[in-house]
Amino acid sequence: MEKEKFYPVRRYIELQKKAISDSESFWGKEAEEIPWFKRWDKVLVWKEPFAQWFVGGTLNASYACVDVHLHSWRKNKIALYWEDERGNTKSFSYTQLHREVNRFASVLKNLGVKKGDIVVLYSPMIPELVISMLATARIGAIHTVIFSGFSSQSLADRINDTGAKVLITADFGVRRGKLVALKEIADDALNSTPTVKKVVLVRRTREEVKMKEGRDCLYHELMKDAENYVEPEVVESTHPLYILYTSGTTGKPKGIVHSTGGYLVYNYATYKWVFDISDESIYWCTADVGWVTGHSSIVYAPLLHGATIIMYEGVPDYPDPGKWWEIIERYGVTIFYTSPTAVRMFIRYGEEWIKKHDLSSLKILGSVGESINPEVWKWYYKHIGGERCPIVDTWWQTETGGIMISPAPGIELVPLKPGSATLPLPGIDAEVVGDSGEPMTPGVKGYLVIRKPWPGMTNGIYKDPDRYKEVYWSRFKGMYYTGDYAIKDDEGYFWLLGRADEVLKVAGHRLGTAEIESAVIATPFVAEAAVVGIPDPIKGENIVVFAILKEGHKPTDKLKKEIIGTLRKQIGPIATPKEIHFVTKLPKTRSGKIMRRVLKAIVQDVAVGDVTTLEDEASVEEIKAGYEEFKQMLKGKPKRKKVGKKQSRSNNN
Ligand code: ATP
Ligand code: MG
Repeated sequence: MEKEKFYPVRRYIELQKKAISDSESFWGKEAEEIPWFKRWDKVLVWKEPFAQWFVGGTLNASYACVDVHLHSWRKNKIALYWEDERGNTKSFSYTQLHREVNRFASVLKNLGVKKGDIVVLYSPMIPELVISMLATARIGAIHTVIFSGFSSQSLADRINDTGAKVLITADFGVRRGKLVALKEIADDALNSTPTVKKVVLVRRTREEVKMKEGRDCLYHELMKDAENYVEPEVVESTHPLYILYTSGTTGKPKGIVHSTGGYLVYNYATYKWVFDISDESIYWCTADVGWVTGHSSIVYAPLLHGATIIMYEGVPDYPDPGKWWEIIERYGVTIFYTSPTAVRMFIRYGEEWIKKHDLSSLKILGSVGESINPEVWKWYYKHIGGERCPIVDTWWQTETGGIMISPAPGIELVPLKPGSATLPLPGIDAEVVGDSGEPMTPGVKGYLVIRKPWPGMTNGIYKDPDRYKEVYWSRFKGMYYTGDYAIKDDEGYFWLLGRADEVLKVAGHRLGTAEIESAVIATPFVAEAAVVGIPDPIKGENIVVFAILKEGHKPTDKLKKEIIGTLRKQIGPIATPKEIHFVTKLPKTRSGKIMRRVLKAIVQDVAVGDVTTLEDEASVEEIKAGYEEFKQMLKGKPKRKKVGKKQSRSNNN
């Protein structure tokens, strides 16, 4: 029985290792699956830390994603369904998408955009965003999508980093029934971005907006005079496809550059392995196109495969927490890809919203962005996947350009373990190492590194090769340093434990944030948790827990005791927290990740630092105020020693 159970893992690992040892011929074979104008001469030219993939090959991303399907049965199938929170819909067949992409490519050409120029997109989740990306790629220009939730300052900083001449934006975005004045924010940014000469404005609404004579043009007006066909620019495989800024969870975002050939080959291959995607898939990724997940999962990978994409403009719980499940039912979504933070939100709302919908079309569920806590995994598996759909917990980064560690049901489904991203994909030489780069014995925590180049890897940080070397290639010799903390178990499964710089050191033990948080979430009443360290003269650090309760629960000392009990049982007495605070919000990035460094700054009473990527400033204010009250209370009762006692007055819930 035991042997039978682990057989798929062994077979998968063998295949995985073979791909690593014979990596160039392995990737060369994968590259044959996407359309090239000219075949490459050399699979890889590696001058650490810069890789050139498929050197000598030429292609075009928009041709590979759209034109190819016009020569097949897919030409009249739907490439893109779009829907907004009010239920307005649009759809584009591959033929229609081709027409729009070509016409906008012609517009860009008429505006003077040339091969190698950078075009910045600051747009809500509307089809024109996808069209603009593909049109930019069609003429060999480079796109930089900036998430439309960013402020004018964040937008200006990123535009100035790229030196772009053209900005594409919209009059408004729509969020929770309210209009977000994107053009106004963009105008503000444009006061300090001297390089931008032209602004193309998409009319998302009928509201009035100010236009600047000579600079601003309307998308639909420009499209009137456009050509229906623009010859796709033949670009080198190494030609940059896009620059994308990281989410900024840990600090100042980095402008990550991705080349055309390597990125497309890697995404074609990995979406086939991980999602078992095909041209019959109805693929819905809920991420914003402004993040790497959106680039790969809403645009490039599904279109390369000729699948149908769902693009939804809206938040998960508006107009009500049933909206997403209704979309899955109505479009017959087969692959659903979201983040742990969204799943945790739905756990808070309870199951009644889900039960109203038929989710039987789903085949595979995905998770990305943070570690998915085992309890959250189990809930997702049961209530969304009907205990029928494998969950692919996909670990990757903006820098890796594609999924690196994940189950791969498209090859072979290995036994899943809730909370583990399972095994590295074929050709990915991932390892967990110690301080001097030595591989850790199974079960021992360390740093996640990648020891061999892979086609999706970044070409570096835009205009800053030194920072690229410093951040990723100086920590361990000859290895790409991910900055994440992990453990590899005795079956080779990877467990991501959080950011390496957020690891807690308690009495000589290193504890990853994810393992403590998962234990807190394992209590039946906690929906979300974040932990940080507070310095302690004896132990090094003490654990501070911030927790959000599920609906219907009130903060009490009893619940704190239960959390302490669970932590002691699941991790050990070492994980006994010094403080537990119940809050209603946690500081998150605009991509939905918990910003522990903000919490850490609050508990350590130091400056909070760069918060431009923060989703909701109110969360910081709330926690700060609650924490201040807690400290005052401590001052009033200096003799109080017991952990977790009488803290509920500091709570904000
Ligand atoms: P910055 O690098 O600017 O601080 P960021 O790291 O949040 O921002 P991204 O590239 O969007 O920017 O996110 C990649 C990171 O997200 C990974 O390094 C990891 O910490 C986390 N992550 C992504 N997927 C997973 C996953 N499946 N399990 C655990 N962590 C994940
Ligand atoms: Mg990062």
